[in-house]
Amino acid sequence: MFSTVRGGHRIRTLTSLVVAGLLSTACAQTGNLPSQPAAAVPTAAAKPNTLGPSGEGLNNQLIGAVAWKQTAAEYRALYYQGFNIARMHVEAAVKNRKPGDKPLAVITDMDDTILLPLAYWGYLINQNQDFFNDPEWDKWIPRDQIVPSPGSRAFLQFCKDNGVEVFYVTSRDQDEHTYDYAMKHLKVLGAPYADTDHLTVLRDTSNKQPRQDEIAKKFDVVVYLGDNLNDFRRKFYVKNVDERMKVMESERDQFGRKFVLFPNPTDGHWLAAIFGDSEPPPTDDNRRLFKKAATRTAWDGR
Ligand SMILES: [Mg+2]
Repeated sequence: MFSTVRGGHRIRTLTSLVVAGLLSTACAQTGNLPSQPAAAVPTAAAKPNTLGPSGEGLNNQLIGAVAWKQTAAEYRALYYQGFNIARMHVEAAVKNRKPGDKPLAVITDMDDTILLPLAYWGYLINQNQDFFNDPEWDKWIPRDQIVPSPGSRAFLQFCKDNGVEVFYVTSRDQDEHTYDYAMKHLKVLGAPYADTDHLTVLRDTSNKQPRQDEIAKKFDVVVYLGDNLNDFRRKFYVKNVDERMKVMESERDQFGRKFVLFPNPTDGHWLAAIFGDSEPPPTDDNRRLFKKAATRTAWDGR
């Protein structure tokens, strides 16, 4: 089975699903988050769902995260904050650039960085779904309801006005239409450099680094923008909570400097560190695993 990513592209195989399912069950029994990669439970082998949203869907575990995305001024302010930081770095780089230096560039992710898929998440909740649904995502993408993130358009135009090229590197897969859909979204955004030299769509991997390194050979990359650590370097692609945290800590000086990170509490590779899969199936075992993650530290009431 083959599927799109947002948090981290992955190719599912029957073997990996079975292994992941066994690990997930073990974790649910021991109460520990996975210390080894993988943990998602295959839908086919899962027991019937009894804990997922039903009726009015008030027990949907996504509600908090999606309500925050839909309504919190803080969520939107974090985008302005990120683009303000990025702009400061671009301003400094433009000012400090000397004749003969490589030209300047910015490399950005698309979804949840310069574009927000808010209506997609609202739809999932209205459909009583509580995990990312890849087929629904693929149906929604061509509806062109994705919207600019706060400050993205102005920042991208600022880059253009200052001769700083912007490269868009995204992992998406909606079959043969993937590239056209992504390009159309750049046009909807009014993004500069919306052309084939600047847009890279990775359909079969979430590994952006080869393309980023290729760009960095010709350009001085001022900042990388993303909502997922994997948008910055491949080294962050670690499917284990503690290990992933360690890799993040090893790069702590880069955040707000070389890497500008935007918030995403609904999806991303952080889920792969919990479930072994960025898009885990909506099973009761996975809901239990999610609760384990949420109670990783918990007061005992005494
Ligand atoms: Mg993204």
